[in-house]
Amino acid sequence: MQNPPKGSTKYCMKVMKFGGTSVGTVDSLKNLKQIVEGLTEPAIIVVSALGGLTDRLIATARDAASGNGLYKTEMPVIRGRHYEIIDALISADRREEVRTKIDGLLNELNDVFRGISLIRALPERTLDLVVSFGERMSSILVSAIVGADFHDSLEYVRTEQWFTGSIADRKLTEELIRKEFSLPLTNNAVTGGFISRDRETGEITNLGRGGSDYTAALIAAALDAELLEIWTDVDGFLTTDPRVVSSAHIIPEMTFVESMELCNFGAKVVYPPTIYPVFHKNIPIKILNTFNPSAPGTLISDFHFSTPEVRGVSLMKGTALLTVEGSLTINVAQINTRGYNALARNGIGVLVVGEPIRHTALAIVVPQKDSTKAFRELEVEFGPDIRQGTVTSVGVAEGMAIIAVVGESIKKIAGLGSRLVNILERKGISVEALSDGASESTIAIVVSDNDAAEALKLVHEAAIQMPR
Ligand code: ADP
Ligand code: ASP
Ligand code: MG
Repeated sequence: MQNPPKGSTKYCMKVMKFGGTSVGTVDSLKNLKQIVEGLTEPAIIVVSALGGLTDRLIATARDAASGNGLYKTEMPVIRGRHYEIIDALISADRREEVRTKIDGLLNELNDVFRGISLIRALPERTLDLVVSFGERMSSILVSAIVGADFHDSLEYVRTEQWFTGSIADRKLTEELIRKEFSLPLTNNAVTGGFISRDRETGEITNLGRGGSDYTAALIAAALDAELLEIWTDVDGFLTTDPRVVSSAHIIPEMTFVESMELCNFGAKVVYPPTIYPVFHKNIPIKILNTFNPSAPGTLISDFHFSTPEVRGVSLMKGTALLTVEGSLTINVAQINTRGYNALARNGIGVLVVGEPIRHTALAIVVPQKDSTKAFRELEVEFGPDIRQGTVTSVGVAEGMAIIAVVGESIKKIAGLGSRLVNILERKGISVEALSDGASESTIAIVVSDNDAAEALKLVHEAAIQMPR
C-alpha cells in the first residue's frame, strides 16, 4: 500500500473481511493469522461466525421451539468448537480471559434456547438474537488470535424496519462508525460482521444472511478506506457458479456495475448490498482466497474496458414469473409501468421486467416467497382492465430461475439475447421470458428451475466465447 501524498488528510487503510470458511477451523484461522501478520499497516478486520454455525444456530432454535430438547446436546458441540480454537491458537496467558468471555455468551445463548423451548415459539427477533451469538463469539476469538483491538459492532451498526424485515440505516451507521474507529489506526482492529441493532428499539437485528460483507463495506465507505478485501474460499470472482459449472474461471477484473448485477442475480461470492456503498466512494474491492493468498484474485473497480465482453453469468433460482396477457391493442409500455409500480408500492422487489416469449404483454419476475402477494396486487391493479377486456388474464408460475448474462457493454454484441434463447430452445429448454433492455449491462433469461443447471452450462459456454 502506498502512503498518502504529503499534505493529504486521506489515510491509507484497508478493510478486510473474512467469511465463515476462513474462520471455520484451526487451520483456516492459522492462514488468517498469517495474512494479518503480513500486513504493513494496521487494518480493520471484519469476521463472520465460524463456518456453518449460523445454519446450526437457526436449526437449533427451531428444534428448541418444537420442544424436542436437542439444544441441550448441541450446546456442548458449539462450546467444543470454540474451545478447540482457543486451545490451539490463543496464547496461554490469554486463554482464561477469552474462555470466560465465550462462556458468558454461551450461558446467555443457553438461556435463550431454554426460553424458546419453554414458550415453544420462535419470534423473528428471538431468532435474530440467537444468530447474533455466532459473530459475537468469532470476533472475540479472532481479535485474541491476531492480537487486535476488539470493536463491538452492536455498538455502531443500526437498522430500521422496512416492511417485514430490517435494512441498514446507512447514514446513522456511518456516523457511528466514524465515532467508533479513530484514524489513523495504531493497531489492527477486529469486529463482527452481520449483526446490528434496531435504531428505535435497540433490539439485536442483522443485515441478512451473508451480511458480513456489507458490514465491511459500510466501514470502508464511512472511513474512506483505500481498499475493501473480501477473503473467501475461492481464488476470485468466477465467470459463473463453480458449484454448478466446473469450467467456471477467474475474472481478473470487473467493474462495480458488473459485480453488482452478477451478485444481485445470485453470485453468492459477495452479498449484493455490499457493492453500493464502496462504489459510491470509488473504493475498489478485491476478492481473495484465504487458502491461496498469493493468487491475484479479482479486482472490482470503476475501470471501464474498451471491448464489449460478457464478464460473467449468474443463476438465481426460487423465483416466480407473473404474466399479464391482453388483447393485441394493449399498451405494453403502460402495462409494464403500472405492473412494476403496483409491486414496488407494496414492498415487493421486482427482479426482472421482461418481454414474455409466449404472452402478449407483461412478464415480471419476483422472489418466490412474494409470489402470492404479487399475484394479488396485479389482480387488483388490472381488475378494471380485465372487466373492460383489454387484459385477458393475470397469471403466476412458481419454480422459475433467472440466468443473468452480464457485461457493461454487452448491448453492443448484436442480437446476444435472441442468439442465447435460440441455443437453449434448440436443446429443448423452454425460455419463459427474456429481458434484453431492463439494464444496460444485463440480459436476463427466465427458464424453469428444473432446467436451470443445464441452461446455465449452455449459456456460460456460449456467452463467454460468443463472437462479437
Ligand atoms: P464466505 O463464507 O467467505 O462469505 P460464501 O460461501 O458466502 O463465502 O461465498 C463464496 C462461495 O460462493 C464460493 O465458495 C462459491 O462456491 C460461491 N460462488 C457462487 N457463485 C460464484 C462466483 N460467480 N464466483 C465465485 N464464487 C461463487
Ligand atoms: N454468519 C452470517 C451468515 O452465515 C453472516 C455472514 O457469514 O456473512 O449468513
Ligand atoms: Mg458470504
